[in-house]
Amino acid sequence: MEKSNSYNNVSVLIVGAGPAGLSAAITLKKAKPELDVVVIDKAQAPGNHNLSGAVLEPAAIAKLLDPIDPQWAESDAAKAVLLSRVDKDDVMFLLGKKMAFGIECAIKMAISFKLGFGQMSHHNDYICSVSKLTAWLCSIAQKLGVEVLHGFAAKDILWDSASHTATGVKLVDQGLDKESHKQRNYLPGETIHAKHVLLAEGCDGLLSETFIKKAGLKRQGNQLYSIGVKELIKVSDAQYQKFGAGRVVHAMGYPIWTPLIGPAMFGGGIMYPMGGNHIAVGMIVGLDYKYCDFNPQDALTLFKEHKFVKQFIDGGTVTEAGAKMIPEGGLYALPRDPATNAIGRSNVALLGDSAGFVNMLKIKGLHNAIDSGMAAAQAVADNLDTPLGLAGAYTRLLEQTTVLKEMDSAKSFRQTVARFGPLQGMPLSVLGGLLPKFHIEPDYQEMTTAQYRMKPSVKFDKDTFTAVAATHHREEEPCHLLIQDENICITQCWPKFGAPCITFCPAGVYETVHNEVKAANPSNCLHCKTCQRKCPFDNIRWTVPEGAGGPRYKTM
Ligand code: SF4
Repeated sequence: MEKSNSYNNVSVLIVGAGPAGLSAAITLKKAKPELDVVVIDKAQAPGNHNLSGAVLEPAAIAKLLDPIDPQWAESDAAKAVLLSRVDKDDVMFLLGKKMAFGIECAIKMAISFKLGFGQMSHHNDYICSVSKLTAWLCSIAQKLGVEVLHGFAAKDILWDSASHTATGVKLVDQGLDKESHKQRNYLPGETIHAKHVLLAEGCDGLLSETFIKKAGLKRQGNQLYSIGVKELIKVSDAQYQKFGAGRVVHAMGYPIWTPLIGPAMFGGGIMYPMGGNHIAVGMIVGLDYKYCDFNPQDALTLFKEHKFVKQFIDGGTVTEAGAKMIPEGGLYALPRDPATNAIGRSNVALLGDSAGFVNMLKIKGLHNAIDSGMAAAQAVADNLDTPLGLAGAYTRLLEQTTVLKEMDSAKSFRQTVARFGPLQGMPLSVLGGLLPKFHIEPDYQEMTTAQYRMKPSVKFDKDTFTAVAATHHREEEPCHLLIQDENICITQCWPKFGAPCITFCPAGVYETVHNEVKAANPSNCLHCKTCQRKCPFDNIRWTVPEGAGGPRYKTM
């Protein structure tokens, strides 16, 4: 779609065409067809920047789509996206390279004793690709008349500190060269003014974090992140049948956690069937890990080589891959207006992963993203003439839905594991609300000189990983990864930690060039933002590249 001045002044501007933003757009346009609702997204096409496991609770999507079409579940589109229901919910503990124990009985026991861990059950949830889910929701929104503009990358939120309101957002300039000189195709970033602004950019969103600072929102505790690296593997008919089209696997233990002897990292492996003989295999690791030489992709390789996993994927072909951060801090990390407790301020609301609505006891946030989008739509509809009431109304609605109740029920889990480590923290977290709020340092401060001892036999091929992620940026544009003080890299980070960004960046963006650490390959960037949160000197800033840059996920 061509950029046009007609978007300069809109009633509702939604930043981010993911499940949260599109749920807001769909609900709002259905309720108020006359309202101009515009969604902007930095990806080139719907779903290109969306990656998750994913299992989706049926209630959220039904609540969203029932008012649009009560028969939606019977449509070909729904069947193509919501592939199957979970009928086998394996929770495994992997010990060493060969042993695997099913620990579903622990989950069943937790359900019967009404313990928080019981939330980890995924039975009857949909198995889906979030890229495909997003593309489908985008088509539904567009049919209702929502303007969804892809390739529109926003670099700033315009915040009037006198009136404490957002007036709109500023898009990134296009057509600059590496030194930020204007080229012949230069286009200054437009300003889109809006009455209501919904921020639904996903984890660690640039505008969301800028807004949090500008509007003075505070978190009770630091946000914690994890990195997920994922591959889609085409396997044989026999392997796919053996795995099962309705089976999901969540595995703890090897290769990131071995009780007593280490390593000791929070996270685990996942396996989901994705149709067409494809199995998604992923590794999620809390960024509060301490090993300066750790590469999450090495952990993925070791997981794939484990005897239990290998039987299903051996000889398969990786057809797609990607990486993304997950906000894990939970209730204490929700950014709130200190005066009103609102998750947003005046005419701005934070939705989905932008706010941090991931329930780590469920290992899921997709249903909360959809629910938060619907709540934001309702809040806008109720405050059309009183936009400053948006954030407060939105938060009151979240309190009435399951979103904040769930976040409250899981509030101690991830914090306790971060404070005490997986061995003591997991069992201790059973005490739930009886536990105090622990102070948790930001992830980057947890880096130490400790080494991750388990190395795969083969070096992970990051070039192939980024190739199948189909990531792309214009080679001549300015580097969007800013090392704030290059001197720190060489004089402090390299001697102490060996420049961990070179190792942990899943796209191989960072390299040593003439004895300096550089973001040498920014065009490979997958927009995961790990470098911004795990550089041990907090010395990297991810800024937004030109619109349409980044990965082009289709089935992630
Ligand atoms: Fe992720 Fe940063 Fe690497 Fe880009 S440069 S892929 S944001 S770690």
